[in-house]
Amino acid sequence: MSVLVYVENADGKFKKSTFEVVSYAKEVANQLGTSLTALSIGNVDDASLAELGKYGAQKVLFVNNDKLKSFVNQAYASIVAQAAKAEGSKIVVLAASFSGKGLAPRIAVKLEAGLVDGAVELPELGGGKFIVKKTAFSGKAFAHVELTSDVKIISLVPNSFKVVERAESPAIEAFSASTAENDFSIMIKDIVRASDKISLPDAELVVSAGRGLKGPENWGMIEELANLLGAATACSKPVSDAGWRPHSEHVGQTGIAISPNLYIAIGISGAIQHLAGVSSSKVIVVINKDPEAPFFKVADYGIVGDAFEVVPKIIEAVKKLKD
Ligand code: FAD
Repeated sequence: MSVLVYVENADGKFKKSTFEVVSYAKEVANQLGTSLTALSIGNVDDASLAELGKYGAQKVLFVNNDKLKSFVNQAYASIVAQAAKAEGSKIVVLAASFSGKGLAPRIAVKLEAGLVDGAVELPELGGGKFIVKKTAFSGKAFAHVELTSDVKIISLVPNSFKVVERAESPAIEAFSASTAENDFSIMIKDIVRASDKISLPDAELVVSAGRGLKGPENWGMIEELANLLGAATACSKPVSDAGWRPHSEHVGQTGIAISPNLYIAIGISGAIQHLAGVSSSKVIVVINKDPEAPFFKVADYGIVGDAFEVVPKIIEAVKKLKD
């Protein structure tokens, strides 16, 4: 019995969140005293597949197929389930990414497995139990879920587990999987990138701004700070509703839920619906002119001040550090 980890790629390349999920799955395999097999679907080169050993994969299965180059939910779920059966894997781990969130329940149905969707820590295994901590209510709470099923699926929230380097030399094998015609009933025809900027769900650093910025013409300093830090930009809901920023930047209960290492919130009040999507960030810095703004209650660092004075000063300080 091995642990199976599904390794997601973007245009044939693995992302940091993939290495996190392999590191996590390796630790789960260690907890259970078993080995770790990784499964890659899409066209990924041998060197990238071998790199998975650096994070703990002892065996790498791949399905390289032009038809599967882009994510196809039904077909991918079927292949992961087939690989889990072939490997006799009782635990399947994947990222709680956009595609992982779509895949996990489908795999669970195919394997008649229990699913913990959005895990943030390693399982607790005391007393023959298998309990996983996960986020609940859009990140406002945590739940400890006991999985009692024979096969267990865990999807891991990006940025919730550190990448751990190891030194495995994995065997790399082609996996022959069958797919049915109706697995391809929904397919991605074309991918249009909104911009070349860092993608928000994957970003480790995020600079976010709200209605306190007064208007779209003032986002220059937010962009500048984000560029200097190598951060993604985000915004509150009213800002995207007003068309000041694209909807793809809206974070919160009704937007994207993120958990970066650093979230800088500028001119955002900290309404509960906003916090629902950002409160699992590792470090939160709040800049707001109102000392009573609710965001300060969840901030690790707070600056009470006018964003139009504070942000340029931070930009200057970061520039000096970079010189
Ligand atoms: P405001 O509440 O107007 O706050 C602006 C802040 O900027 C204030 O704290 C003010 O003190 C500060 N400020 C003003 N000027 C300056 C300055 N010069 N320098 C520094 N600070 C300044 N919201 C989301 O963000 N995401 C969601 O997903 C979301 N989902 C929702 C779902 C539902 C069902 C509902 C009802 C609401 C939802 N909302 C969501 C809206 C949410 O309730 C708030 O209205 C919203 O988050 C407020 O946005 P804001 O903080 O940018 O604006």
